[in-house]
Amino acid sequence: MIPRIGPKKQNTNWQKLLADANWTAEDLANRLQFPADKFQGLDRVNKHFRLRVTESFVNRMELGNINDPLLLQILPDPDEQKNLPGFHSDPVGDLTYRSQANLLHKYQGRVLLLVTGACAIHCRYCFRQNFPYESSFRQNKQWQSSFEYIRSHKGISEVILSGGDPLVLETYKLATLCEELSHIPHVKRIRIHTRLPIVLPERIDNEFLEWIHRMDTPIIMVLHCNHANELDQQVQLAIERLKSSNYLTILNQSVVLKGINDTVAAQCQLQERLFDCGILPYYLHLLDKVSGSARFHVKRDAAILLHEAMRKQLPGYLLPRLVEEQASHPYKLPVY
Ligand SMILES: *Cc1c(COP(=O)(O)O)cnc(C)c1O
Ligand code: SF4
Repeated sequence: MIPRIGPKKQNTNWQKLLADANWTAEDLANRLQFPADKFQGLDRVNKHFRLRVTESFVNRMELGNINDPLLLQILPDPDEQKNLPGFHSDPVGDLTYRSQANLLHKYQGRVLLLVTGACAIHCRYCFRQNFPYESSFRQNKQWQSSFEYIRSHKGISEVILSGGDPLVLETYKLATLCEELSHIPHVKRIRIHTRLPIVLPERIDNEFLEWIHRMDTPIIMVLHCNHANELDQQVQLAIERLKSSNYLTILNQSVVLKGINDTVAAQCQLQERLFDCGILPYYLHLLDKVSGSARFHVKRDAAILLHEAMRKQLPGYLLPRLVEEQASHPYKLPVY
């Protein structure tokens, strides 16, 4: 008998890659052809939010370039641990809007369901660095009470899966979750906020595609990509495969990040490249001023000038909306 290892092996491949995403400072330095001690100690800057990046994302970095826009997003900095005025652990007040431990109901008609605390990469500008997010997560038990909440609030027409990154869940779990949601009559759309198709394109495997093709509730996938270099051939192929599903819309959000994408050229290249890949821009966020993210901060006046310059160069449909998140505001606030 021929052992049936083929499909199983393929299905678990991405999980192995996910498990391998924690690097030592030395391995990362070697891999990018820097001196072995170049990043010494940086893998110990924050033990709750370690140096974490997928092999595939590292493959898109330029060897020996300390200013590489992908490297800068994931490389820890000793100053992250300093308290700086104006930077807080929960600047947009999300913790106060938790209707339940893993449900945020802040905007009319939409709820954000936090389905996992885990991510494939640790982006150093993210609010996640300030909470022991991963370890505090008790996903399965709380799903039932979240479903109850959504069922009893008939005004909710869209459920947004967020986290962490919802796509780190195994496909069967995502499928179970979405099936349950799609049975709630007033839920018309399911949205997935994810960075995985960008940072771990291997995640879009046959099993996932089969599931997404079976879904008959419209799904909006909002990706998170900050720089054109993140979109290589492998990512483009993963997106093409996703787009063969009729019920799927793919958008992108990004964050204005100093030294990474705060030039007109970098922004226009990003939007053009997204279009090549079949993705339309959605939001361009001002950085939430979370503790540890100060080195990425672009002043709002500079961000407005940047966005105005983009407006001149890009067709309207390739111009993301420049927005900021403010505590207690009922929608993402246009910056100007
Ligand atoms: C961003 C966000 C949403 C979605 O907002 P859209 O403008 O529809 O993209 C929903 N709930 C919360 C809490 C959010 O932060
Ligand atoms: S939630 Fe998104 S931005 Fe934050 S660390 Fe995870 S992948 Fe990066």
